Order: sequence, then structure tokens, then C-alpha cells
Amino acid sequence: MTTTLPYEDSEDFARRADAEDPLRTFRDAFLFPQAPDGKPVVYLAGNSLGLQPRNAARYVQEELEDWAKLGVEGHHQGRHPWLHYHELVTEQAARLVGAKPQEVVVMNTLTVNLHLMMVSFYRPTRGRFKILVEGGAFPSDQYAVASQARFHGYDPREAVLELKPRPGEETLRTEDILATLDQHGHEVALVLLGSVNYLTGQAFDLAAITRTAHSKGCLVGFDLAHGAGNLKLSLHDDGPDFAVWCSYKYLNGGPGSLGGVFVHERHSRSRDIPRFEGWWGHDKTTRFQMGPDFDPIPGAEGWQLSNPPILQLAALRASFELFDKAGMEALRAKSERLTGYLEFLLDKLPPAFVRITTPRDPKQRGAQLSLRFKGEAQGMLKRLSDAGIVCDFRKPDIIRAAPAPLYCNFTDVYRFVKTLEGHARG
Ligand SMILES: *Cc1c(COP(=O)(O)O)cnc(C)c1O
Repeated sequence: MTTTLPYEDSEDFARRADAEDPLRTFRDAFLFPQAPDGKPVVYLAGNSLGLQPRNAARYVQEELEDWAKLGVEGHHQGRHPWLHYHELVTEQAARLVGAKPQEVVVMNTLTVNLHLMMVSFYRPTRGRFKILVEGGAFPSDQYAVASQARFHGYDPREAVLELKPRPGEETLRTEDILATLDQHGHEVALVLLGSVNYLTGQAFDLAAITRTAHSKGCLVGFDLAHGAGNLKLSLHDDGPDFAVWCSYKYLNGGPGSLGGVFVHERHSRSRDIPRFEGWWGHDKTTRFQMGPDFDPIPGAEGWQLSNPPILQLAALRASFELFDKAGMEALRAKSERLTGYLEFLLDKLPPAFVRITTPRDPKQRGAQLSLRFKGEAQGMLKRLSDAGIVCDFRKPDIIRAAPAPLYCNFTDVYRFVKTLEGHARG
């Protein structure tokens, strides 16, 4: 087993680790962009846009064919009738986030879902109207939160409370998050954190945060954009009220692919939660009676608005099948090992050249390591790209590198760090 080999700074080690990787063949199920030399790139940007599964085109093509052959009849007569098409991914989505199938639905896109969830779970009152977020949250989440506060008549400068690292530190301490909740929880209506911060790569302790927040009477939501398909999640047991995610990052659903929603079972039948309603959330047995009164499907599906985009769902099926075959448990085990190797090699570079800002504790991170460069990070990105290595750059000096365990390997990680090393020494 790979997991027993101590790390070595050598290509030979990387090769051996790949040969012993039980998930090594999954790489062949993906299409890699080509490097300038015509070889597949080293792709470390799966936290931004996952690669295309080979089967995606075939699955999309099937639906195009059914549409061509059947027209409207495809809703019932297709190989995979469109009427129920989104249900094809429900159980897999539930496994990915550690939920019951009734607690999840794949629909819309992330920011849309975040708004829909906040309509239901951000219900401010005079004495309790604040939203607790991580400082430096992804901009879309910041805009969503601020605009929801304004929508309810509050000034975001008062309503939005940001968690900040201690002076001189770059990531949050769990104890500080919990202490903030202890102190301010009574005025917080909603706690909304990423499960992994997009910039620092820090993963939060969802269970501890949820427990403390609930004990203070707050509702809790998580944005799993960088967590889904990356961490082993157990949303049902951790108990947040809702979660949202997108599926084009680690989940390889394709550009702009559908998002997902988790609504905890405890809310599945509540009729007193306000929500924005649409016909796809209506009870399936009576939906087509087209009656005037909304009767929600119990569970997350009740939040659906529209009939979903089938072509995008088709592509997503190809990726979810691979996740199901590999299993999140095995993927996470490989991921910890692979990112650990990245860390091991990076630690051998001069600290004056590059520094890891992501937490060192594997429990507090996923696949991604965020690297802070002393010199010019953007120029480095270009040099990496010329060498056939894809990662991403965030102003002013951060490069994010995420070896996604489904299709990245130890040799990729080795090549990446050796390319950096070439530039560090001259
Ligand atoms: C990627 C990402 C988004 C993107 O939102 P879309 O609505 O899918 O465009 C939002 N929030 C976070 C935290 C992200 O990482």
C-alpha cells in the first residue's frame, strides 16, 4: 500500500507510489488538456474546473439523440426519461456529502441555491439579525449575504459579522470560531461558512461549529463549493440546517454545471418555513394536475423551481459514476497522502521563495495547498504553464495547487515541485 511508504524526494519514489496507488486507473477515465510538448498537462486546477470524464460526451450525446428522435416524448419515452432525470444523481450526491437521499437535490447553480436557502433559513428578527461569515469569503457569497441583509432592511455593515484570523496568522482557529459564537451567537440568525475556504484551503470543523451555533439558537449553512468531492463529508450527522455546492470543481460536472442543495431532514416536512416556490418542487403525483396550490415534495426536492437542464445533468452522471466506483473514503485517503507529498516536497524549497499558507493539519485542509510567493507569482504561473503545469493564481501573490485524487498522481506532484525548484534556484 502507498500509505506505508515514507516519502522520498525522488522521481523513483513518485513512480512507485503511483504503481501502488489503488485508484491509479481512474486517471484514464478523464480527458487531459495538452501541454506545449503535446503530452497531457499536470492538472492542479481541479479546485477551479474539474476535468472532463471520457463518458460525459457519450451521455450528453444520448440525450441529444433522444431529443432528436422523440421530441417531447423524451420526457417519458427516453432511455432515461427526463421527467425523473435528476433523480439519477440523487443517491450519488447524497453519498458524496454524507446525507440521506431525501436531504439532497441537484438543481440550479451555487449562488442561486444560496439565495434560495437564505430565503428559507435567514429569518432575521430585531434582536437576532446577524450573519456570521468567514472574512475573505468567496465574493459571490459576500454579495449574496450582503444583499440578503439589505433585502430584509438591514445594513450589511451591521448585519454581517466576519471571522478574522488573529494578527499575524493566515487561517482561523476553531477555538476562535467557537468563542465568537459563544460571545455573539445570541444575535446571530445564521452562520454561513465555506467547508473549505477557496483562498486559504482551510477546512472547518463542521460538526463543532454546528453544535455550538445550534446551542446558541443560530441556524447553520455551509458552502461546500470546495468541499464536495474533496472532503469526506457527513452532513446528516454533523447536522447543519442546509448546505449548497457547485459541481464543476472537484465534482467534474463541466463548466457552469448544476449545483446541489442539502436540507437537513428535520426541516423536510415543515410547512412554516418560507420558501420561493416553483412547479418542480410540487408533489410529483399531482404536479401535472396543474392546480393553483403549492404542495411541496417533502425534503430537499421541495425547493426545486424548474425542470432541470438534462444535458448538463448527463455530463454530471459520468463524473458521479466515477466517484461512486472510487468511493469518497478511498479518495480522501489518497488525497491526504498526495497533498502530504506535495507539502513534503515544497518544504524542501527555500522559505524565502515560497511558503504554504494552508493549515499543516490534514484534518484542516483538503487537496489544495495555497502557496505564497515572494517574487512575482503571476510570472511563475506563466512559467509553470509553459512547462505544461496548470494551477491558478490569485492576486497579489497566491498560487493554488490542488492535486485532485481522481486523476492526479504522485508523479504530477513531483513534476510540479521540481519545476518550481528550477525557478527558485535561478
Ligand atoms: C466557486 C464558488 C462559487 C461560484 O458560484 P457560482 O454560483 O457557481 O458561480 C461561489 N462560492 C464559493 C465559495 C465558490 O468557491
